[in-house]
Amino acid sequence: MKKKISSECWLCNSKELEIAKLSNLDETKQESSFVISGRDYGITGEMHHCQNCDFLQWSDMNDVLPFYENTMEDPTYESLRKGRSLQARKVVEKIIKYKKQGKLLDVGAGSGILVEQAIKTGYKAEGIEPSRWFQEKATELGLPVYLGSLPHSNLRGPYEIVTLIDVIEHVSNPIELLLEIKKITTTNSIIVIITPDRGSIPAKLLGWKWWNYKPGHIGYFNNKTIEFATQKAGLKQIKLCYRPALYYPLGFIAERVKLYLPKFLQFPIPQFFQNLILPLDLKDSLMGIYTLK
Ligand SMILES: [Zn+2]
Repeated sequence: MKKKISSECWLCNSKELEIAKLSNLDETKQESSFVISGRDYGITGEMHHCQNCDFLQWSDMNDVLPFYENTMEDPTYESLRKGRSLQARKVVEKIIKYKKQGKLLDVGAGSGILVEQAIKTGYKAEGIEPSRWFQEKATELGLPVYLGSLPHSNLRGPYEIVTLIDVIEHVSNPIELLLEIKKITTTNSIIVIITPDRGSIPAKLLGWKWWNYKPGHIGYFNNKTIEFATQKAGLKQIKLCYRPALYYPLGFIAERVKLYLPKFLQFPIPQFFQNLILPLDLKDSLMGIYTLK
């Protein structure tokens, strides 16, 4: 018997939702599943697919903030800081092509990795971050990252650049979030969004085993739905491409690849190579640059 879904689509408000995948989440360890560098690939709640706009969402998870505010500690993420700084640097280098200077706000700034790179490049940058643990890391490093989410009383906009890197897939109100961002921008501002692309080749090849299907991600975009969401929020796309390469230590890549390989193909990486940082260009996350309509 077909289960009746009472929720509506977070993007288009249609009630035409169909179950795309049943939950395989262990409810007892939900909190630990939310860490950014978690390895619960292919683990999700019950996913609903909108027949009207093609969006995919975990309808029952309508407030993830409590998971991030107090509980999220992610030492693995911090240990990857060197590689992540390189990633952030590449993102900032893309942004420069569209906006050479100005005030930049990174929403969901984590421990301030992008803020740090933006400041080094000459932007006046700051961030906001809901997780206390991450925000404290940023403060320890002297980076201007405020605790909280939008709207935020410490912010002194307007900002010429707002970045939303790996954030929009974590919220159940993507349109509202974009509208909040618009309020702190100005006519010539640009908004940069990076989010996993469920229409990408890796996503299609791996199906529900794709590494971006994980409990912390509750809404999944493709080029069609990101365009729909941004248009609806009154944004105009200037560019849509894949994100620049990610940079990880070889040891980390090997450990994650192992999760996809049969035992006989798994071999240890010599210690000497473990910390070697390599680019990983997966072409499975969209990078969109937008301006106000
Ligand atoms: Zn929809």
